[in-house]
Amino acid sequence: MTVAQIYKTTAAAYSRPFVDDQCNAWNRGLKDFTAAEVQAAVDQWQRNTTPDFDGRTLGSKLPQPADLRAICQRHREQETQRKSGKFIPCSQCEEGWVRIFEGRTPRGNLIDPKVGAVKMCQCRIDYLCVFFHCTAEELPERLRKHREGRAKQKHRNE
Ligand SMILES: [Zn+2]
Repeated sequence: MTVAQIYKTTAAAYSRPFVDDQCNAWNRGLKDFTAAEVQAAVDQWQRNTTPDFDGRTLGSKLPQPADLRAICQRHREQETQRKSGKFIPCSQCEEGWVRIFEGRTPRGNLIDPKVGAVKMCQCRIDYLCVFFHCTAEELPERLRKHREGRAKQKHRNE
């Protein structure tokens, strides 16, 4: 499998014609990554349900080489992270936390738009899921148990 072949099947999946210039752009933009890495990035892109400015999800649009490069890079960071056990935040947050100014907190309190609140970034959720060997849904429960365990430990040491 080559990046050119992945471009061809991906374009076809989005009912787009094969364009030589586009194919070259994929080859150029993704030359630092293996075909397997590029394919994994395409798979992840297609699952992306984040709405774009026009309301359509990002995953419903043909990805650009830069989109896939960012995902490939992130996958490599996650791999390094998994091996070293060290948390590496993504570029969208501050050490795994993002500030939000609307919606509700996990406890259901309305967020004051003047003050805002912090929310765990997806990169930190991913990291902790690997750390605890659990799914994102199981994570709050794991964290709660982990905190309880630590509190008991502290109590014993006092
Ligand atoms: Zn992040």
